[in-house]
Amino acid sequence: MRVYNFAAGPAMLPAQVLEHASRELLDWQSSGMSVMEISHRSKAFMTVAQTAEADVRSLLAIPPNYKVLFLQGGASLQFAAIPLNLAPAEAPLAYINTGAWSQKAIAEARRYNPVTVVADTAAERFLDVPSAGSWTLPTGASYLHYTPNETIGGTEFPYVPDSGDTPLVADMSSTLLSRPIDVSRFGLIYAGAQKNIGPSGLTLVIVREDLIGHARPELPAVMNYALQAAEGSMLNTPPTYAWYLAGLVFKWLQAEGGLAVIGERNRQKAQRLYEYIDASGYYSSPVAVRARSWMNVPFKLADDTLEASFAKEAATAGLTNLEGHRSVGGMRASIYNAMPLAGVDALIDFMRGFAARYG
Ligand SMILES: *Cc1c(COP(=O)(O)O)cnc(C)c1O
Repeated sequence: MRVYNFAAGPAMLPAQVLEHASRELLDWQSSGMSVMEISHRSKAFMTVAQTAEADVRSLLAIPPNYKVLFLQGGASLQFAAIPLNLAPAEAPLAYINTGAWSQKAIAEARRYNPVTVVADTAAERFLDVPSAGSWTLPTGASYLHYTPNETIGGTEFPYVPDSGDTPLVADMSSTLLSRPIDVSRFGLIYAGAQKNIGPSGLTLVIVREDLIGHARPELPAVMNYALQAAEGSMLNTPPTYAWYLAGLVFKWLQAEGGLAVIGERNRQKAQRLYEYIDASGYYSSPVAVRARSWMNVPFKLADDTLEASFAKEAATAGLTNLEGHRSVGGMRASIYNAMPLAGVDALIDFMRGFAARYG
């Protein structure tokens, strides 16, 4: 039996996508082989790769002057690839620090460049986001980096920062494809696939053309955006099966009606869960209302000694992986695209029953 999996990542995938993949696992398009057994240079796989790119371009309305790269190494490798591709040595970089993932990006960038943290919500224990425009960029900054959705803390920017002429770089690992965005506001968007895109092993990079081609000479070739773009992200063997599955997810998103429909559904899912939490008198959300994530919803029980029982009973009821991140504790429900409204309703029903039994 399939469960409602509330894991933060790798996360739930749409059942239709998994069923589709399983139907053609052994014999893909009458080739007598699995798609993961064919050459990435074959015409058949080229079609998979190009169709996936065309579909994600149309879903996100990506302007033609942006490259879409299908890379490896996760979002974490991009923490290093971004400064090495976009900034000369010694150039100042601007970062906003809103929690765990921002901090990892900052620590990695500091290995290569001077980093100025222009806004920081540590004083709010990372339970809020900075107000728009409450920072100044260092002169000559190569870019401003931020994390629109902090997966661990469960905060999300309700606005896109205005960085003026300085390119805006966004780690959208846990929010890309959750709703429409205006790609032209960004210089570079990147995301590890295992939240909303597909299985782990694939990383999407969407980068404005004029920003690439200035990489530092010591940059490894597979991390070089210009080289990867010139080779269609096939400088070496790409993660073919993850790419194929991401392509199926893109088709699923189109069949569901595209990102406007998905975004409205996600807004509704999050709103329903927060409304229940706020009204329950037993559960509470630690996150400032304006900064509440649609994707990752942390919550606390009135009695935190019952957290383990909550997680265990929920799992028995088919609602899995509700434990909060080990660094923050509490509970966390990750409700990405593949989580249906029915899964959120089932969670709320369970929470109501648990509160009645123990509250
Ligand atoms: C999951 C996540 C990462 C890490 O991704 P990897 O692919 O494991 O490197 C980075 N940033 C954010 C916001 C994430 O949610």
